[in-house]
This record gives sequence, structure tokens and C-alpha cells, in this order.
Amino acid sequence: MEFDTASIRAGAAQLTERIREHRRTVHRHPELGFAEHRTAAYVESVLDRLGVEHRRVVGTGVVAVLPGSGPRCVGVRADMDALPVLEAAGRLGYRSEIEGLSHACGHDGHVAVALGLAELLAGVPVLPGTVALYFQPAEEGPGGADPMVDAGVLDDPVPDAIVALHVSSRYPSGTVALRSGPMTGSDDSFTITVHGVGGHAAHPETAVDPIPIAAEIVGAVQHVVTREIDPVTPVVVTFGSIHGGSRHNVIAPTVVLEGTIRTLHAHNRELLVARVPEVAQAIASAHRATTSVEMVRGYPVGNNDASLTALMALAARAVLGDTRVVAASAPSLGGEDFYAFGQTGVPVSMFWLGVADASRGIVAPHHSPAFDLAEEALPAGVAVFAETICRLLG
Ligand SMILES: [Zn+2]
Ligand SMILES: [Zn+2]
Repeated sequence: MEFDTASIRAGAAQLTERIREHRRTVHRHPELGFAEHRTAAYVESVLDRLGVEHRRVVGTGVVAVLPGSGPRCVGVRADMDALPVLEAAGRLGYRSEIEGLSHACGHDGHVAVALGLAELLAGVPVLPGTVALYFQPAEEGPGGADPMVDAGVLDDPVPDAIVALHVSSRYPSGTVALRSGPMTGSDDSFTITVHGVGGHAAHPETAVDPIPIAAEIVGAVQHVVTREIDPVTPVVVTFGSIHGGSRHNVIAPTVVLEGTIRTLHAHNRELLVARVPEVAQAIASAHRATTSVEMVRGYPVGNNDASLTALMALAARAVLGDTRVVAASAPSLGGEDFYAFGQTGVPVSMFWLGVADASRGIVAPHHSPAFDLAEEALPAGVAVFAETICRLLG
């Protein structure tokens, strides 16, 4: 195959069925972070069939390298992990076969796109430069990008740019959305334990009930969000779980709250990381209880390199046409560890690939049990990557 825009567009379209097959294979066997054994083995088996060299890193990470004639190198990252989300009923043909786990963020689609890209590139007799594919574990946590960089994946080959995509249920199928600058939010998580004194439900005066204290903490933290943060700078604090108590007539000794803090600005991040534990402790002590708080610093804000993003936008317009390429007006406060690949100074950029199809009811948000993706969108991801690579390798 030639390596030009027309051939890339046609080549990606021809891979539609194969990409669907990759996606469904991975979808059936979701695996959590650093346990992507079967997924990594599948990636390796496809690369072997294509004659693409590869190596294992950090347990379940796979780096594939397609060498080329020129000195330049482009990296492409695909995350592989799933989530502990029970998939909703009603999907035919490609349901998760692992009870309680599913690809509710669409990383199965990312693997499928990267494997489709590998096949397209392997069909080019001589690439104008090198392409490295990073199949990454554990994006949903604890983070696989940092360990891959620490393991030296950027040392051999050394990339001049690294690109990625994330499928998105916020955009229609086959649409590409790009933006330069901030793309994803910082992502810190916390666990607050409210320590009360257990007792009889009918004798609260002999106990310290942590449940109303926990409820007050949930409300007070939102108070910090609306009263202490510049309202034109977005932040989110979500309590994702509250656990306490065993039955209706027992006052629980403790309640455990878990939550996440998302920001786009460093000063907001520092303020909330400090204020959430402070407010929790102040409310607890006002009501004779205590708290212990564990704060886990997660991914920083993800920034797309401006010139790489501009080049990727031109590449997307070339292969998809102007109407299917949009400027993303706002970042997401979702966390993303892809940007750790930029820590050596190499320019990085990620785009959103729309996978929603309202006519078929494919609209559920990421991380929800009903999340699904329009598979027909995936070849567009292959085409945009290939055209971007073609332009970057010159
Ligand atoms: Zn996710
Ligand atoms: Zn994701």
C-alpha cells in the first residue's frame, strides 16, 4: 500500500470488520489494571501475525515497533484496562464474559484502533520513519504510563511526538474533537473515615453517631466548592461511595467516605486537597467525633501541545472531511495518565473520537453499566492516526 491520504482513507475503511473483531475479542474478556494478561497476549498474537516486533514492559504493557527509513519516530498510545462495572443486560454478541468487569470506558476500542493501525502500517512496504505503539496497562488506576516511561519505553526508539485518542460518548460516531492546551483534569482521590462511638439506635446520647456527621461533611464540601473557588475556574468534588452501619437499630462506630477532586488549575487543586480534610475534621470535632483522611495524589492536568494538535486537526480534516472534525470547546475533568508520556519533553496530544449513536441508543456515559460504543467509528481513529504519522514522519 502507498502511504498517502487516499490510501490511508481506503485502507482504514477496509479494516472495519477486523477492527470490530479485535474490539469484541477484547470486550469479552475485560481485565483490571496490571492484570491485562489475556489482552496483552492477544495484542502480541496479532502483532506476531502481522510480523511486527514487540516487547513486554511493566508486566502487561506491550511496545510494538515498526521501523522505517527516516530518522523520525512517532509514538501512539492505547490503554487496555477495564473497570469493575457490571455490564448492563441486553447487548448481543459481545458481552463481557467476566462477571462484574466491563470495558465501560471504551479502552477495548483503543486497543482495536491500535491493532488496526498496526495492520495498516505493516502493509506499507517502507515507512518514512519509525512508529512505536504503546499498549498501556492501568489507565483507570493506579496508572501505567509513568511505569512505562520509567521502564525506558521512550529511550528506544526515541519518539519526536506521541499521540492518543479517547473514545467519547459526548460526540457523534466518527466525529473527531480536538483542542490545544488543557484537555483533562487533575485527579486526586481521598478516603475520609469518621470515627464515632457505636451504640443502641434508641440511645444516641450514649453514642457518637457518625452517619449525620458524614452527611454534613458531604454537604459542607460542596459549600467549599461554591464559596471558596473562583466560579469561572471549573472544579468537581464527587463522593463516589459512603459506607457505614449494619442495620436499622444500631449506631455505627464508623463511616467511610470516598471521593475524588478534579481541577484544571494548580491553585484550586492545592486548595481542595487542603480544605477537604480540614472541613471534614472541623465538622467531626464540632460533633464530638474525629476523622482520619487519606489523600492520594493522582494524575496532573493533561495539556495538548498546540502545534501537534494543529497538525492532527489538519490530518483529521484530510481523511474525514471538515464536517467531521470539531474544536472541543471545553476540556473534560476526567483524569488521564496519557500525559505522563510527555514528561521527557516530547510533545503529546490526545483527541476525542465520537462513538455515540443516538439512533441505536448508544448514548450512555463512560463508566456506566450501559456504556457502549459505535464500532463503525473506530476506523476513523486509525485513519487520523495514520495521516498524522504520515505528516509527522514527512
Ligand atoms: Zn475511564
Ligand atoms: Zn478511559
